[in-house]
Amino acid sequence: MSPLLEVEELRRSFSGGRTLFGPRKPDVRAVDGVSFTLGRGETLGLVGETGSGKSTLGRLVLRLIEPSAGRVRFEGEDVTAASSSGLRAMRPRMQMVFQDPYGSLDPRMTAAEIIAEPMTAHGVRRAEAMRRAADMLGRVGLSPAMAARYPNEFSGGQRQRIGIARAIALDPALVVLDEPVSALDVSVQAQILNLLADIQARSGVSFLFIAHDLAVVRHVSDRVAVMYLGRVVEMAPRDALYGAPRHPYTVSLLSAVPRPDPAKERAKARIRPIGEIGSAAALPSGCRFHPRCPRARLVAARGVDAVQAAGTRLPRACVEQDPQLSPAGGGAHLAACHFPDEA
Ligand code: SF4
Ligand code: MG
Repeated sequence: MSPLLEVEELRRSFSGGRTLFGPRKPDVRAVDGVSFTLGRGETLGLVGETGSGKSTLGRLVLRLIEPSAGRVRFEGEDVTAASSSGLRAMRPRMQMVFQDPYGSLDPRMTAAEIIAEPMTAHGVRRAEAMRRAADMLGRVGLSPAMAARYPNEFSGGQRQRIGIARAIALDPALVVLDEPVSALDVSVQAQILNLLADIQARSGVSFLFIAHDLAVVRHVSDRVAVMYLGRVVEMAPRDALYGAPRHPYTVSLLSAVPRPDPAKERAKARIRPIGEIGSAAALPSGCRFHPRCPRARLVAARGVDAVQAAGTRLPRACVEQDPQLSPAGGGAHLAACHFPDEA
């Protein structure tokens, strides 16, 4: 059986626009050639800093924005080539939950109306949709008696439950969750993550779970993909990624989790990325992580063929050749690094 979702070489650039009186600014390559598959009932965690392209990727998958190139197949159908009516027919099966439970719910609609809306939009009669919406409240751990309340009468966590109820109301096969818990308190985060796991166990829905933090996706993901400046730089089954990360960027993200042990704190200093995330409008040559890569500096110091770049000596391969996502460390573990075994 083919995977639920197949994403091939997906790309999206945004025009850089013009500076006042000046030349055109370069295009921003927000998503720059991303491929992955997602199985039925599977959760893929998609992690990256602000500016890595993960939200754009989530919207491209659902074709809420148009790709510049590449293809998305969902349940065997080509999403990227679908007509507007074809896309509309697919919509109930692929849904999205947004980050901001405050901004993503219409304040003038009751909880039941919000949840019923996608159902009525796809032909369910209003009375039936409202009855099912009250049921859905129960399924996401809220009381059906809250159906007539407005968003401002709910807490942040409750609002996110309403957002989730709306997304699953039509029994989708795929839900893209864009930072669904980032705006919530840690204790509430855990409740929402448990709710999502519960919904998945019952319905077999697949999740593409976007987060900026590896800690958040750890317990909900079967596999994890790490994005950096528009690319997936590492993708692996969850335990392989957390237990034996192969890309230095992943290593640095994992090391950002605080540790009580001072010796380990000192060890962390050597694996931190140097400086800030670059710009997708001015991508570095070769490996896009090279200006920040602590591993490249260590490898160059050992005497591989090196060149002067980013104010230091770096391996020529890192500066000149763009590493592709390739097998590293066995199994389904993939990393885009010329020196994956240095981990
Ligand atoms: Fe670092 Fe070089 Fe690997 Fe890129 S290819 S992540 S610069 S070691
Ligand atoms: Mg985002």
